[in-house]
Amino acid sequence: MTEELFREDSYLRECSAEVASAEPGRIVLDRTVFYPRGGGQPGDTGTLVLPDGSGIDILDTVKDGSDIVHICAENARLPAPGVAVEARIDWARRYRHMRMHTCLHLLCAVVPCGVTGGQVGAERSRLDFDIGEMVLDKDHITAELNRLIEEDHPVAPRWITDQELDASPDLVRTMSVEPPRGTGRVRLLEVAGVDLQPCGGTHVSRTSEIGPVAVAKIENKGKRNRRVNVVLVEN
Ligand SMILES: [Zn+2]
Repeated sequence: MTEELFREDSYLRECSAEVASAEPGRIVLDRTVFYPRGGGQPGDTGTLVLPDGSGIDILDTVKDGSDIVHICAENARLPAPGVAVEARIDWARRYRHMRMHTCLHLLCAVVPCGVTGGQVGAERSRLDFDIGEMVLDKDHITAELNRLIEEDHPVAPRWITDQELDASPDLVRTMSVEPPRGTGRVRLLEVAGVDLQPCGGTHVSRTSEIGPVAVAKIENKGKRNRRVNVVLVEN
């Protein structure tokens, strides 16, 4: 089971770790800062630095049961179990994912419709909405997103037990997604005063960190479905 350091601190760029297992194309560590693909957010890329200073390129990260698997080339040199490594993510790419992912939570709050899909990307991110009879206006959504970003709302994860959830029906009403039940507790992402929903992704800690954004285009994906694409205006 891999210890998931990014869950508590999404700003960690590197950590020391020990190799738990290694087979062609797949390396598992005892702990990691690499976020595994999931919840619409891509897996991290980066490097594992070996004791002799050489590096193994990590091309993607995925979850496999309770393990986090660092994906490398099939012919990459493999470290032996027990070897100490430095795990370093491609921070520039991950930080864009964090800004984008937090921005999609704002988009959920701005467009009061059911979400049918979504994808975070470093260059472009999107949410698909079931809009019913509603008409979406690109400029209005852009303005509302930038207003919420400038208002600099704090963003933080918050764990809640199934019992607390049952005891607070108001909380469920403020969420745009029904929380998963059954495991005893649920990780929520709260943008204070704006959005609250179950989410396991990595986020910035204040909305101002997202920087200016724009709705690139709204695609028609069927009678009731619209795809809203968002881009970061600043690198
Ligand atoms: Zn999320």
